[in-house]
Amino acid sequence: MRRPLIAGNWKMNLDRAQAVELAKSLVAPAAGLSGVDLVVCPPNVYLDAVAGVVRGSKVGLGAQNMYYEKSGAFTGETSTDMLKDVGCQWVILGHSERRNIFHESDGEINKKTLAALAAGLIPIVCVGELLAEREEGRTAEVIRTQFDGSLAGLSAEQLTKAVIAYEPVWAIGTGRVASPEQAEEVHADLRKLIERRYNAATAQSVRILYGGSVKPSNAKELLGQPDVDGALVGGASLKAADFLGIAAGAT
Ligand code: PEP
Repeated sequence: MRRPLIAGNWKMNLDRAQAVELAKSLVAPAAGLSGVDLVVCPPNVYLDAVAGVVRGSKVGLGAQNMYYEKSGAFTGETSTDMLKDVGCQWVILGHSERRNIFHESDGEINKKTLAALAAGLIPIVCVGELLAEREEGRTAEVIRTQFDGSLAGLSAEQLTKAVIAYEPVWAIGTGRVASPEQAEEVHADLRKLIERRYNAATAQSVRILYGGSVKPSNAKELLGQPDVDGALVGGASLKAADFLGIAAGAT
């Protein structure tokens, strides 16, 4: 049985006081939610402050990106050890904004994924097609290429520890959510792909999240799909009530 996971990607939003406040407003309600994992991913500069709030609670802490080298001359980057040092257990990798604005390749995302797993961080690896790719009927091919490239070389055990997020780029921050059927189709295809590349047991245990304009009003139906195991939430994760409303849809 796959336990639902709701992860909030705060992106480059909030100031320090707002980040702490948002985290505080999640901790007590999270204690009352059972059967769902909650994770927040603040901007790196506020990880330490948010860690102080969520430590010991049911709210996990994640980063939005990291670098695969251990240390050294990599200006502006953050290592796995640094993330663990401030209390992270999770890290989002290969978000479409990293892929499309910062030109991250599947190869780089793969190195980061392997480094995260080696360090004991849980990577949430994002895949998703552009609108033009969907309209050209290339969704399955794009997802397969990103899966094979970003997750190359993972053992079945490592893949089971990782989380995959299907985030159609056309649905991110646009208010244009994938229909439950569209999401389920890609999730089920991904699970079949994992079965072909690995085996049925691995395919059944990997959590696959949906991301793209998830709100309390559409969460229950999306999360009710058999192969949708949770959500990666952007905009709606910046409001405690909305984020908790989405989490409630998973229970
Ligand atoms: C995201 O950025 O991962 C995301 C899903 O954003 P939004 O929920 O705002 O569409």
